[in-house]
Amino acid sequence: MKIIKVAQPWVGREEVKAVQEVILSGRYISGLKVEEFERRFADYLGTRYAVAVNSGTAALHIALAVLGIGPGDEVIVPPLTFFSTVSAVLHQNSIPIFADIDPESYCLAPQDVEKKISSRTKAIIPVHLYGNSAEMKDIMQLARRYRLKVIEDAAQAHGTEYKAKKVGSIGDIGIFSFFATKHMTTGEGGMLVTNNKKYADLARMIRSHGLIGRDRHHYLGYNYRLSEIAAAMGLVQLKKLERANQKRIKNSLYLIKKLEKKRIPWIKTPKLAKHIKHTFFWCPICIDEKKLGMDTKSLVEALAKKGIETRHRYWEPLYKQKILLQKNAYPKGFPFNSKHYKKSIDYHKVYLQNAEKISGKVIGLPNHAMLTKQDLDIVVEKLIKIKAG
Ligand SMILES: *Cc1c(COP(=O)(O)O)cnc(C)c1O
Repeated sequence: MKIIKVAQPWVGREEVKAVQEVILSGRYISGLKVEEFERRFADYLGTRYAVAVNSGTAALHIALAVLGIGPGDEVIVPPLTFFSTVSAVLHQNSIPIFADIDPESYCLAPQDVEKKISSRTKAIIPVHLYGNSAEMKDIMQLARRYRLKVIEDAAQAHGTEYKAKKVGSIGDIGIFSFFATKHMTTGEGGMLVTNNKKYADLARMIRSHGLIGRDRHHYLGYNYRLSEIAAAMGLVQLKKLERANQKRIKNSLYLIKKLEKKRIPWIKTPKLAKHIKHTFFWCPICIDEKKLGMDTKSLVEALAKKGIETRHRYWEPLYKQKILLQKNAYPKGFPFNSKHYKKSIDYHKVYLQNAEKISGKVIGLPNHAMLTKQDLDIVVEKLIKIKAG
């Protein structure tokens, strides 16, 4: 049986050649490939600066450090995202505060963000989920009004546009991931983008042990550098990104149109906003379990048995993760019991209506650049026949 995979990197001889050249050159760190990758990524995004790092999570951590967010501070995050949006906040000894999502875009709902702002709030991290964009105009307005920083988590949205601006370039800092399944990949890798020179300079320092020069350590830093090998692959992938995105979009619109035509009562296709260029990190559909007569997990398993791989994300709001419920972050109760945080938080009491309703019911259908029209037809056929067994 042919397996249709939900994610597959679009790679070939060009990546092999680029990586091979670096390997044979003998220079693996802090060289010209990383610099060129940063310059080209900044050009692509329309920002002044880009700083390459070795994961999207590292980029998030550096972004929070650069903005001076630390003990006693609160950062507003969405409940449906990959966990590193939340863990990066904990890494800085800050407190993640969850705001609800918009039921159509699955991204942060600005009205609820405003309700969660307190005197301790320092930043908002909108996540551009599944290749969509959060409502950035409203979020930036809130940020200005309450003097908050905005870090855009665009790890699933390389090339997504909000009102003709690339996401990641709108807030104070934007971050991207080049993990194997993302729109473009370097195996592991990430990028931080900004228009602020101070932020970019500090980010470069924190990326490499807080170093100035060769042996002066001015800040608490980490080893978050990207290798030349990864950057060489990234340069090739970046060149292909627009073409890969066009295919993702075309494939997703084909799936959506076909599903809408069939009027399957248990499938809700994504609602596309006119002011957003969605780049579809998978093609997300929402399942009405009652109408289907089966839970989403069983649907995903049934599809896998028929050779269709899908993604079941995110299956519960992140405030239900044990690390938060039991406050298992740093030893001795940090950061939750830090004397700088004069409040106490109990994640058992968090309940966000839209996140509760939607989590576990969204699945991502395959839409990557390697799929043929015939593959997409098979996905639709097998999906809509699932009820019949
Ligand atoms: C993938 C992802 C990250 C983390 O990126 P890594 O490169 O895997 O560290 C962060 N946020 C979101 C929304 C992601 O999808």
